[in-house]
Amino acid sequence: MMDTETYTGHCTCNHVRYRLHGRPMFVHCCHCRWCQRETGTAFALNAMYEAERVELLSGDVEVINTPSNSGKGQLIARCPKCRVAVWSNYGGMGDLVRFVRVGTLDEPDRMPPDVHIFTMSKQPWVTLPPGGAPAFHGFYEREKQWPKDALARRAAVLAKAGM
Ligand SMILES: [Zn+2]
Ligand SMILES: [Zn+2]
Repeated sequence: MMDTETYTGHCTCNHVRYRLHGRPMFVHCCHCRWCQRETGTAFALNAMYEAERVELLSGDVEVINTPSNSGKGQLIARCPKCRVAVWSNYGGMGDLVRFVRVGTLDEPDRMPPDVHIFTMSKQPWVTLPPGGAPAFHGFYEREKQWPKDALARRAAVLAKAGM
């Protein structure tokens, strides 16, 4: 792996420990009702990584198929002991891209959101800072928001999977 920057994280009981290699492709702050329900709070903060950049340092994960808004399901990887979610996969991409739960990082402050999405259901007391990450009523156009290198990383993942 060329990137030297790494980030470590763990579940609450410390059974699952992981290391991320390099910066995330993109970080979503999702204010949709599904994320609110699944986290039990106001939004979800997910950092997108190629699966190969997510290194399991100890423990194992239990993958639970959870209903999702798209109908394709979300596979959520949880600690089998404390059941805290550490990452998940969405839709038809299999385990190619992992949505890592930023709150499980040892230093979550290092991964602020690149975009706010589904602000149509944002809880009214959550005030987004002016001049901060762009905010969208629903989803957004990836090609317009992602940096070029992140788009290239995503394309490489898809190409490798023959998609
Ligand atoms: Zn745990
Ligand atoms: Zn959401």
